[in-house]
Amino acid sequence: MDIRVRFAPSPTGYVHIGSLRTALYNFLFARKNKGQFVLRIEDTDRTRLVGGAIENLLDSLKWAGINHDEGVFIENSELVQKGNFGPYIQSERLDIYQSYIHALIDKGYAYYCFCSKERLEEVRDKQKSEGKTPMYDRHCLNLSKDEAEIRIKAGEEYVVRLKVPDNEEIRFHDLVRGDIAIHSSDIDDQVLIKSDGYPTYHFAVVIDDYLMKITHIVRGEEWLTSTPKQVVLYNYYGWNVPDFVHLPTVLNKDKKKLSKRQGDVSVTDFLDKGYLPEALVNYLALVGWSPKDNQELFTMDELIQEFSFDRISNTGGVFDVDKLNWINSQYIRKADNEELFELAIHHIIAAGRDTEENIRREKDRYLKIIDLVKEKLDHMSQINNHLDVFFGDEVSFENEEVIDTLQQEHVTRLLNAFMVKLKETEAVDEEFSANIFNVLKNETGAKGKGLFMPIRAAVTGQLHGPDMGKTFIILGKSLLIRRIEFVLDALND
Ligand code: GLU
Repeated sequence: MDIRVRFAPSPTGYVHIGSLRTALYNFLFARKNKGQFVLRIEDTDRTRLVGGAIENLLDSLKWAGINHDEGVFIENSELVQKGNFGPYIQSERLDIYQSYIHALIDKGYAYYCFCSKERLEEVRDKQKSEGKTPMYDRHCLNLSKDEAEIRIKAGEEYVVRLKVPDNEEIRFHDLVRGDIAIHSSDIDDQVLIKSDGYPTYHFAVVIDDYLMKITHIVRGEEWLTSTPKQVVLYNYYGWNVPDFVHLPTVLNKDKKKLSKRQGDVSVTDFLDKGYLPEALVNYLALVGWSPKDNQELFTMDELIQEFSFDRISNTGGVFDVDKLNWINSQYIRKADNEELFELAIHHIIAAGRDTEENIRREKDRYLKIIDLVKEKLDHMSQINNHLDVFFGDEVSFENEEVIDTLQQEHVTRLLNAFMVKLKETEAVDEEFSANIFNVLKNETGAKGKGLFMPIRAAVTGQLHGPDMGKTFIILGKSLLIRRIEFVLDALND
């Protein structure tokens, strides 16, 4: 069997990371099985469309390295469609849905319904007040075809509803949850075609998954309750029911659905914070799926190798930002400095520190800084926490302890000796950095903490930080001189 899977988002706004994970699992499964991965746009709910959402979605997938084989793509800023099963945008398939709905109506598996909103509301309220689950009361089920046609010709608004079979078990198989059976009396006569002529999600998804020869439907568990209605349709048409895989919801630490109110949930949020795409993908793969051993860091190729549905959990996957940060920090350590520099620029500008032109002019210095501090970063926006040390003639003292350190008796002499050496040297290079502490020790008698701490405090305003010798080199001779002068002046005041 040729494996075909699909990711079928609705362009209703930003891409939730739960959606990105759905796309990822589809992609991994397709690649592992040498199958095809289709991207279809489900835009039949015209009231929820958001402009630019398709482009944003495609950009997010591309950023994450989740590539599809068929469907909708962006080329030269234009949406294009590729593949033998198109169109891949549901709003361009209306005639297809029309022909399939007529086949159902003709067989009595679907019927026209002319009930007004007000009537439906009344029925619903009454059922609720009687403690019943609200369901359509089949008021229009027995209208004759002729009568329905007359009313349609007269311009009355209508929808088409599914006639759910009476008294039947609806069964399907989910690769994560096993066999599932639901009694048809619990299923509503779902609307299939809306009054605007568009199909509902439930109808279009079945027609498209069938016509696009989808073998495995991999999607979030919020669709599990919709599946029986869709299975009824497969049965009516006499089509094979595909395999289903319903993925556990991505939860926050309180085990509630991860939502925008609690912070970052969209792919763009993570991109903006400076997470590396490989790290986010690596982490997301682990939310709800567990590899055979306890390996935590995976390249995309390794994920493809390892991925299987039988290791997907059937309880929610908790999204743990600390874990994501740890994984991201591991990727930052290994990443190329140039790549990190390109990511950092955006954050340095956003923090209002400098213009892109200036940052690029100082690229060499930034590359050295990045090399020095990258092991302290969870994500690139944190680069800003490490830049003060490397810019500006003045030193801002981080806390009282720094000031106490500088006010020790021997410090002025130590700083003056440092100043002499700085002025003497041609350049603050590796050799200077390697020897300076020994030289100062011999000349001033200061040693250990009494030597290193005051120098660090004077140069950076902090008592802890990156390697001193490398920091000296990044700062360079003249900036070091100006800073020591500044501190000596401050100590004299
Ligand atoms: N269009 C649905 C969504 O927005 C897709 C559900 C499915 O995969 O069947 O998530």
